[in-house]
Amino acid sequence: MKYATEFRDPKAAKAVLARIAALADQIGATRAAPVHIMEICGGHTHAIFRYGLDKLVHEGVEFIHGPGCPVCVLPMARVDECVEIANRPGVIFTTFGDAMRVPGTKMSLMQAKAAGADIRMVYSPLDALELARRSPGREVVFFGLGFETTTPSTALSIQQAAREGLGNFSVFCNHITVPEPIRALLDDPHMVLDGFIGPGHVSMVIGIHPYDFIARDYGKPIVVAGFEPLDLLQSVLMVLTQIRDGRAEVENQYARVVPEHGNPVSLAAMTDVYEKRPSFEWRGLGEIDQSGLRIRAKYRAFDAEEKFGVGYAAGPRVVAEPEGCACGQVMTGRIKPTACPQFGRGCTPEMPLGALMVSSEGACAAYWQYGGARAPEAVECPEIVE
Ligand code: SF4
Repeated sequence: MKYATEFRDPKAAKAVLARIAALADQIGATRAAPVHIMEICGGHTHAIFRYGLDKLVHEGVEFIHGPGCPVCVLPMARVDECVEIANRPGVIFTTFGDAMRVPGTKMSLMQAKAAGADIRMVYSPLDALELARRSPGREVVFFGLGFETTTPSTALSIQQAAREGLGNFSVFCNHITVPEPIRALLDDPHMVLDGFIGPGHVSMVIGIHPYDFIARDYGKPIVVAGFEPLDLLQSVLMVLTQIRDGRAEVENQYARVVPEHGNPVSLAAMTDVYEKRPSFEWRGLGEIDQSGLRIRAKYRAFDAEEKFGVGYAAGPRVVAEPEGCACGQVMTGRIKPTACPQFGRGCTPEMPLGALMVSSEGACAAYWQYGGARAPEAVECPEIVE
């Protein structure tokens, strides 16, 4: 298979691992701590564990899992608001499957569905649009969720609904952007990060230049990476090479997919439909300025927040995390999932306490599925800081 098997070649992987080990030794000779490389994207976290890269790379390199799983960073208050909308009379609430089991303060969407709300799983906002066309007497709401990867398709569905004058379609917009939480992490004096592996899918839309500030203002290297094992190993090698050479640049390992300036069609749709919110709440990171998107006034008729008077339209609503839940610390790379007291005890994929255990991109789900650590004591994961 072209563009997959070539990037899973064990012989090539061994050669890159040897080069990583040599570089890590060279860098390690001048410092006590391992090189901390944050993979921002949850898809990368899963790939690292699926292929056992965390165990294969030299001990002088440590992967820190970042906040790049959109379902995981969704605060509980937003899940509650989804349930609130779904329970309104006449509403059909549509969502990607990933979000169905994310716990709210009282229930998840799955539990709300079991209790009688009309909640349906879709694969695209266009499915929700089609449902609205076929259900003129109902209000069809799409749960717009995700980073810049999924944001354009929601924008296109809103543009299409406007063209058709589809008054019974709206979007509960929870789209968020990647650069701002990275800045928040870099501004955190407790974080010890030496470099980044940048998100491949997001960068396919926005290009590589939105990360320029990481190199320019913070002096950290970032390499945008693909999702195969050799993509990730090569990206680690590129980050280490920059560190050894005293460079801090934005590099593109995933050039076969990521254009330098992104996708102009997607970017134009996003600019037309959305504007930045002054701030948006992230699970574990709190409110981050300019990190969320809302629907522009010209498309207000398709904004579920306005239509149902929930979310930021109803004023700020902060909900505390459940007792003993360490999602925030895991999300910001302060601890590994196995260091959460609930891991494998009060929180499993069957009975999740936090979103990181249910999302297909969640760090806790990756440790559970691939880490061979089904009990907290199975793996020693000391805190990185403090
Ligand atoms: S184990 Fe559960 S509660 Fe703990 S950080 Fe992971 S998802 Fe959150």
